[in-house]
Amino acid sequence: MRAWVVDRVGPIDDGPLIRVDRPEPEPGQGQVRVRVSCCGVCRTDLHLAEGDLPPRRPSVTPGHEVVGRVDAVGAGASRFAVGDRVGVPWLASTDGTCRFCRRGAENLCIGPRFTGWDIDGGYADACVVDERYAYRLPDALDDEHAAPLLCSGIIGYRALRCAAVPPGGSLGIYGFGGSAHIIVQVALRQGLRVHVLTRGAGNRRLAAELGVDSVGEADGMPPEPLDGAVLFAPAGELVPVALRALDRGGTLAVAGIWLSDIPSLNYENELFEERKLRSVTANTRADGEEFLALAGRLGVRPTTIGYPMADAVQALADLAHGRFSGAAVLHN
Ligand SMILES: [Zn+2]
Ligand SMILES: [Zn+2]
Repeated sequence: MRAWVVDRVGPIDDGPLIRVDRPEPEPGQGQVRVRVSCCGVCRTDLHLAEGDLPPRRPSVTPGHEVVGRVDAVGAGASRFAVGDRVGVPWLASTDGTCRFCRRGAENLCIGPRFTGWDIDGGYADACVVDERYAYRLPDALDDEHAAPLLCSGIIGYRALRCAAVPPGGSLGIYGFGGSAHIIVQVALRQGLRVHVLTRGAGNRRLAAELGVDSVGEADGMPPEPLDGAVLFAPAGELVPVALRALDRGGTLAVAGIWLSDIPSLNYENELFEERKLRSVTANTRADGEEFLALAGRLGVRPTTIGYPMADAVQALADLAHGRFSGAAVLHN
């Protein structure tokens, strides 16, 4: 089968990915093999290709927003049948035994594995997944529109909850890419007031089309104090900016897996009065099931731009250079 692999990390324009032929993976104990229909392009794939995230395995195949159909079932796997549509997400496995797994916080597992980082992902014709970590997907969404829900959606949803905005409160969104444009749909339908602060005319236009309450520059001030905010842009310099925009007691949740350095903070202006700064790390399977059910019920629909699988590098370069709004999705 054909698969993209990380060959030699470096700037995306220098071609860190190459497409190779390799044997089809066989599903092992408890696994199913998924014939990939679509795979979303996540910023984490870019961080991996460019070396911001150190590779955990040589020649790994990226891609952790995989939609496809089960075409082979391994020994002991019984949750899905051949032909079922499934989604393969970022969280590939946890140890199930550490102190975090035992208390229901498997997102903090000390022995996790991630799709497209530890094990081969969906920039390929097929991949295998532990069936316990795969998802069924909302019927209302076709493959291309379901793919971005699997990481951008699920982890964005966890970040939204971590921002802890009370009912009817105000939410700030810093950076407006694949994750943010999904999560504002959830927040608006839940009755929050949403203020988007982002660079890029295309991003601001998409935010306005989705019906947010205000749109402004990334380093500007929103029209009201924020009860909570999510930082999606991988820009540490926005942390103090967003903290200053919080109301007393507000929470800033940093959603990304990678962030540039945060400048020094001023305690009085940026943290005192119980403003809180927190990170968001991966997700639990319960987060994923809850979000996908909610997305189906609320009619969440990502704005996507499709690329042939052969153009994976172009899609990543377009993401790196901010050439599209919404979410890129690769098609086989
Ligand atoms: Zn664990
Ligand atoms: Zn991701």
